Amino acid sequence: MPGRFMSFTIAIDGPAAAGKGTISRALAKHFGFAHLDTGLLYRAVASKVLEGQDPHCAAQELTPADIVRDTLRTAEVGAAASKVAVLPEVRAALIAFQRSFALRTGGAVLDGRDIGTVICPDAQAKLYVTAAPQVRAKRRLSELLATGAKTDFETVLSDVLARDERDMNRAQAPLVAASDAVTLDTSQLTIEAAIQAAIDVVEQQRDAI
Ligand code: C5P
Repeated sequence: MPGRFMSFTIAIDGPAAAGKGTISRALAKHFGFAHLDTGLLYRAVASKVLEGQDPHCAAQELTPADIVRDTLRTAEVGAAASKVAVLPEVRAALIAFQRSFALRTGGAVLDGRDIGTVICPDAQAKLYVTAAPQVRAKRRLSELLATGAKTDFETVLSDVLARDERDMNRAQAPLVAASDAVTLDTSQLTIEAAIQAAIDVVEQQRDAI
């Protein structure tokens, strides 16, 4: 790929800590595509809002340099991101950048919450990556502890559930599997098995076009 395709978009959606990021990076590497973690856009806006900026202005003025800041991965910024993400004007300001990334020559993988439904409804391949909340909280806890954060399982689980609740029930672009997405539940899968399953799904979807 792309071969017979001008561009090829892989859309990956799912809740926090389901394995989207790991799977997306692996798919990008496997197929030689570029990867955009769209959560970073919302995290970058949130981090500017935490510094006192207006959410809409922060979204409109976002530059590629803003999404490589190393302070974006904290639990505090993640929670703030899911709050700015309910604002329709913030979402609207981020659409054009995501769509042009998706259509770049050479193929693209985008992961987020509304990629297959709103940003790239015509994506050639779509996956909905999910896992049980307890499994996601356990994974997120390990990641946070590895970065030196001080937290515990109950706190992380309640953050995960609060984020699911906000992301799935907001009026604009709620988190939901696209009707043509293949669901991949990673609860019982090793990382390697989840990646292989995702590659198989993308190849099947590509071959069906
Ligand atoms: O994936 P990540 O945890 O980095 O996303 C942070 C927050 O950004 C999510 O909880 C969600 O509210 C928001 N988001 C979104 N749409 C996307 C990506 C992320 O609303 N495409």
